Amino acid sequence: MKHIGIIGGGFSGTMTAIQLIYKATNSIKITIINDRDNFNKGFAYSPYSKKHILNVITEKMSAFPDKEHDFLDWVILKEEYKSYDRTLIANSFLPRYVYGEYLVDTWEKAKKIASEKNIELQIIESVVDDIEVSAEIITIVLHTAEKITVDQCVITSGNQVPRNPAITNMDFYKSANYFQNPWMIDSVLHVDSELPVLVIGNGLTMVDTVFGLLEHGFKNKIYSISPNGFNILPHRHNGLKYTKLVEEFTENMSLYDFVKLVNKHVKLVREYGVTAEPVIDSIRPYTQSIWKKLNETERKKFMARLRHLWGVARHRFPMHSHDKIQQLRIDNKLLIKSGKILNFTEVSPKHIEVEYFDKKEKEIKKFEVSRVINCTGPESNLSLVENSFLKKALMKGILKQDSLYLGVIADTDTYQILDINNHKHQHLYTIGSNLKGELWESTAVYELRVQADKLAQQLLA
Ligand SMILES: Cc1cc2nc3c(=O)[nH]c(=O)nc-3n(C[C@H](O)[C@H](O)[C@H](O)COP(=O)(O)OP(=O)(O)OC[C@H]3O[C@@H](n4cnc5c(N)ncnc54)[C@H](O)[C@@H]3O)c2cc1C
Repeated sequence: MKHIGIIGGGFSGTMTAIQLIYKATNSIKITIINDRDNFNKGFAYSPYSKKHILNVITEKMSAFPDKEHDFLDWVILKEEYKSYDRTLIANSFLPRYVYGEYLVDTWEKAKKIASEKNIELQIIESVVDDIEVSAEIITIVLHTAEKITVDQCVITSGNQVPRNPAITNMDFYKSANYFQNPWMIDSVLHVDSELPVLVIGNGLTMVDTVFGLLEHGFKNKIYSISPNGFNILPHRHNGLKYTKLVEEFTENMSLYDFVKLVNKHVKLVREYGVTAEPVIDSIRPYTQSIWKKLNETERKKFMARLRHLWGVARHRFPMHSHDKIQQLRIDNKLLIKSGKILNFTEVSPKHIEVEYFDKKEKEIKKFEVSRVINCTGPESNLSLVENSFLKKALMKGILKQDSLYLGVIADTDTYQILDINNHKHQHLYTIGSNLKGELWESTAVYELRVQADKLAQQLLA
């Protein structure tokens, strides 16, 4: 019986297994190894707060690419939502824990099909420490030293914790007042309100962290420092479909011409009182193919000059959350700064001095906080991720990274990983955020559900 191993049981690992179960015509064995108690959900859909909401509307969050309304149909049958207007729910941003429940339920349904089809399922809660690859099999080594031998192995290890910013005193990161993982509840618990808190980063995780701090009774100011201090944007013009840019877009456009085209259309819609979001959204189905066609110099240029702008335009959040954030800023409770962190010094056990270069005022400034929470986003450079089987695989030449250190090199049609000599592994695959270097957009359900579907076909072929 073919044995398929899946490392990581978040959305990508779960949906790969579910697609395998539905598509399999012969008996197979599937083993999923997930390192914590958030099987099916990953960090994204096991939030510590009910106030943490999806940043995509219900009708666009189906876990299946060919069942457009699967999530909506599931939600509308739930007791708490069934009396609501379907269109309202379809266009709402629901709490992320609800999506986690949907994934668990979807998994439970698939498990029943698996038992009818004699598909053997094994779920292991453990950390994968290492992998060994031979011509025929892959050995997955757990931190207990137990070894699991599989015929095919899929890496869906997803989002890594953020990188520690480079500062003079790197020892600071051992402090109990520093929280590198912003998705764990302890980052917002028992915070001393006598001093402010610093959130490094100014994206959607910063918003979750601010709401988490307030929910747990934090009363003082919250600082957020990021390189540009951009305002994160709300979802406006929800549902407006803009088509004119795509009509003028050609596959062979250079980055320069493409940016010119986007700017032209953003300017045009603004003249009619519409903001840039519908223009940006219209590009979404083409982002991967645009990225794939960019040459190395263009990709580097994009990363240096446009990455942050793109992040702001793409990663928006619901209007009501935006209003709350704006109010906190007006009330001087949330202070968003643009600049570069230079150092953290622990003056006393409850007292950290933050030193940063303020980009706007062009001078080095200092302030004091009781806690620092890192919300800079998942680390993609595998050589910087400590204690990771991916780093070991990189060192052993089992895989290699792209030149921008965004992910691993893989064939994006078959999802087979390439080794250091550019040879395609016959049995080693990856989907999800490990493909960011190859596809740029490889993070959200929108892309991952397609990858899980295609990968399952590939594994069973
Ligand atoms: C806070 C947050 C909110 C988000 N909200 C949305 C949203 O609203 N809509 C949307 O479309 N996308 C959202 N995303 C994007 C999100 O990345 C994807 O939707 C999806 O959850 C990614 O799933 P994944 O399985 O690829 O990765 P993950 O969810 O990160 O799952 C990977 C799993 O592998 C496990 N793992 C890692 N290493 C090992 C190891 N060595 N051994 C064993 N197990 C291991 C991890 O613990 C984890 O459970 C969000 C992301 C985050 C972080």
